[in-house]
Amino acid sequence: MDYYSILGVAQNASNEEIKKAYRKLARQHHPDISNSADEDSFKNITTAYEVLSDPAKRQVYDLGGDPTKPSGQANNNPMSDIFNMAGEFTQFFTGGGFDGFANKPQVNGNNILYRLQVELKDILLGGENKINITANFKCEICDGTGSKTFDDPVKCQTCQGKGQISKVTNTILGQMMSSSTCPTCQGLGLMPANPCDNCRGKSRLNQTKQFNIKVPKGVNESEQIELTGEGEAGIYNGLAGNLYIEFHIIPDKVFVRDKNNLHCMVQVPFTKSLLGDKANIKTYYGDLEFFIKPNSQRGDTIKIHHYGVPINANSDKKGDLIIHLEISYPHKLNHKQRQIMSEFAKTLNNSETKIEVLDGTTSFS
Ligand SMILES: [Zn+2]
Ligand SMILES: [Zn+2]
Repeated sequence: MDYYSILGVAQNASNEEIKKAYRKLARQHHPDISNSADEDSFKNITTAYEVLSDPAKRQVYDLGGDPTKPSGQANNNPMSDIFNMAGEFTQFFTGGGFDGFANKPQVNGNNILYRLQVELKDILLGGENKINITANFKCEICDGTGSKTFDDPVKCQTCQGKGQISKVTNTILGQMMSSSTCPTCQGLGLMPANPCDNCRGKSRLNQTKQFNIKVPKGVNESEQIELTGEGEAGIYNGLAGNLYIEFHIIPDKVFVRDKNNLHCMVQVPFTKSLLGDKANIKTYYGDLEFFIKPNSQRGDTIKIHHYGVPINANSDKKGDLIIHLEISYPHKLNHKQRQIMSEFAKTLNNSETKIEVLDGTTSFS
């Protein structure tokens, strides 16, 4: 959820502006006041106000965290906005992310999974697809430092860089020590020095990037390639996640893939199936001439070597194309053709003119 757009205020809105926007919207959407109210938008408005009107929560939110989640679980913070992204992809977690701030003050970016629909042609010949991905990518203005002056982030003064604040309370049982995530730096232990105006010190921005994806020849359904470091940016130049492209193949109108073989069906006039002939079809590798043997039957197959799917991206080897024959008959014979056909029928022997009942269990299965 983009709290700023829910309230309809700019990212640098003052507290006063936020208060004003909230009051106006609350009146419009409050279930007890307005007829056109709906509870969900009222809830969203209220959550947005609660976050943005509280400087500590607002800072957590601006840094990419989710201040509405219970604190202490720093793991949840930078993932908050990933479910809002448009486009046909999701991000998933590697378990990387926050990695103990004491040793590693930066925050790693998430991996991104993009499901790419590709055509058979691209799998056979190799191809390139341009895709747009919207995610938290590095702010180029501050080069991922979050700082106007390109300084490295400085130690958070509130928690002295620990990311956690310890509190000692006196109880009847003695002194109790409790610790919680630092609200100033949301547990990062770091703060941008001179926050960058473009990303408001976040060091990364939700933005759209274009990628040119090469389709590997012979790629299989659901196969993935990894583009290391092309995923979501880390905070303050923490390690970027990876981009995974998962290939999904759009069914072709003519050719059906079976591993490295392709199948297609051609319809042959019955005269050609009996007499045999040359035939021509268009394939993605160009025009293909092949021969239909005399006395070919319905369901016969013709195997064409090296017209199938490439074995892999680095090999010249390909599977086969298997052509299945379907046979067509004239819908109507003219007088002369009928005469010729009956003459022809007379040349057939008894078994060739007999009409037989077939085994139904095989015929219909
Ligand atoms: Zn920036
Ligand atoms: Zn802190």
